[in-house]
Amino acid sequence: MTNLDETLWNVKTVGISGHVRPDGDCVGSTLAVYNYIKTYYPNVEVDIYLESIPNVFHFLQNADKICNESTTDKVYDVFFVLDCGDEDRLGANIKYFHTAKHTVCIDHHVSNQSFADDNYIIPDASSTCELVFDLMDANKITKEIAECIYTGMVHDTGVFQYSCTSAKTMNIAGQMMEKGIDYSKIVDETFYKKTYQQNRILGQALLDSKLYLEGRCILTYLTKAQMKAFACTPKELDGIVNQLRVTKGTDVAVFLYENEDGTYKVSLRANGDFNVAEIACFFGGGGHVKAAGCTMEGQIEDIIQSLLDVIHKKINVL
Ligand code: 5GP
Ligand code: MN
Repeated sequence: MTNLDETLWNVKTVGISGHVRPDGDCVGSTLAVYNYIKTYYPNVEVDIYLESIPNVFHFLQNADKICNESTTDKVYDVFFVLDCGDEDRLGANIKYFHTAKHTVCIDHHVSNQSFADDNYIIPDASSTCELVFDLMDANKITKEIAECIYTGMVHDTGVFQYSCTSAKTMNIAGQMMEKGIDYSKIVDETFYKKTYQQNRILGQALLDSKLYLEGRCILTYLTKAQMKAFACTPKELDGIVNQLRVTKGTDVAVFLYENEDGTYKVSLRANGDFNVAEIACFFGGGGHVKAAGCTMEGQIEDIIQSLLDVIHKKINVL
């Protein structure tokens, strides 16, 4: 695809969605496109569908317009899928993708098989927000759209730190700063600030963490009962795996939390050359080389053992 304005030519209805358990890049990129359409295409009917988003992103323009339920049976002229590597990750919103007249996917997951009609997939990009910027007319990016784009970039780059950060990333971030956004506040309020409960559960997760494979793997998990005791929901556990990853000497960090149905959500982070996308893919998930995830079933001890077996094999071949 060439750009958003061309895609929106003669279009009357648009649906937008991203991946399940939306993160900063997913929320930022979907809202950036939503706000662009709302601002410059007032006659287009546009809906945005995402699961419940973390509270820290509520300040973004039109975050309150996000539909958490996929109850309508609308058929859209164009349906945008953002920051989503495959159809399964669309969750309940897959139905809009299947019925839409035209589908567009904008994404940076290396595993993305270009599953839409129109695809803009750049695995080297830091974030989907960076790609959304590419497809917008830069002059038409309002301060509010810039806030969405900047937020997504901050979250997928770990505040412009991870190796996915490029000179181009910084250049786009600079252009967003020039739109008048409060960049320090965005970084502080959405990335670093945690509630008291979040800090306490992070502390518990770190206390319970264990080193495996001669200290090259660090792993911890939280059960449903612990999350209840600390009054935290899954969307408030962001950042725990990042804190594990900065443990000196480790190649890989693993964080698991129990889902409502007893399965476990697994988050993986890599240091150095370790590739966690391979581990996640092995267990039916996906992601990036240095940040990936999957969902696993079974007793927690068995899940941990299965993960360690696969990680062990990969560590040996490094
Ligand atoms: P996180 O650990 O923050 O949930 O996810 C890290 C990265 O892995 C993100 O890019 C996310 O999209 C991807 N990811 C996490 N869980 C899954 C999963 O179950 N399936 C797939 N395909 N990707 C995942
Ligand atoms: Mn992303």
